[in-house]
Amino acid sequence: MITPIIQFIDVFKSYQSGSQPVTALQAVNLSLNAGDFVTIMGPSGGGKTTLLNLLAGLDVPDRGQILLNGKKVSDLSDHELTLLRRKDIGIVFQFFNLMPTLTVMENVELPLLLAHASKADDQRIKTLLDYVGLWHRADSFPAELSGGEMQRVAIARALVHQPYILLADEPTGNLDSENGQKILDLMKQASTDFNTTVIMVTHNPQVAELGNRKFEIRDGRLTEPTQ
Ligand code: ADP
Ligand code: MG
Repeated sequence: MITPIIQFIDVFKSYQSGSQPVTALQAVNLSLNAGDFVTIMGPSGGGKTTLLNLLAGLDVPDRGQILLNGKKVSDLSDHELTLLRRKDIGIVFQFFNLMPTLTVMENVELPLLLAHASKADDQRIKTLLDYVGLWHRADSFPAELSGGEMQRVAIARALVHQPYILLADEPTGNLDSENGQKILDLMKQASTDFNTTVIMVTHNPQVAELGNRKFEIRDGRLTEPTQ
């Protein structure tokens, strides 16, 4: 049997908000294979970002297990967790999160510099910027780019370590439909070209349709309606 690349087993997460606990995820079960292109749709507050944060090892569940490649995230050492966040998982955000004082090239290079603390591989960055169609803007600053271009830079940055999982939190939420489509095409392409497992969160039903696995999350409960 093939080991799933991502598994959630009965995962619960709540937060304290004032004096009240807020349930963010409840009884979440999930099993994904390498190369899956997954969409998760749901209303604001449904638990989408919480699910991505747990997956990325940025937060821990109250109950239940998360396994990556068959390995429990809770058993990883601090060093392994750091590698997970830096190398195994790439993240794309709704508001791009580029560093405004760095050029396009430097933004893509940054994760490599953080990981190796030495001069990054220029050829690799050129290849990636070519891949997202922005090599000609390598020396521009984020403020000089359109939203769609900034998001393409963010995708290049997320792919720089060749992660086996790419997480995207409403990556088209801040773009018009034409630029949004370009981003979606690029993410699909990347999942095929690199056999990356992509998990994309959205509140747009048309975007959600693109998944080969399509989930919904509301009130912290994850369902897969078409199955
Ligand atoms: P979504 O991304 O679907 O909008 P979230 O995962 O951000 O939803 O949030 C799920 C629920 O958990 C919401 O009710 C939200 O208010 C709450 N929540 C998320 N993060 C925190 C936090 N750090 N502190 C308190 N409550 C939080
Ligand atoms: Mg969110």
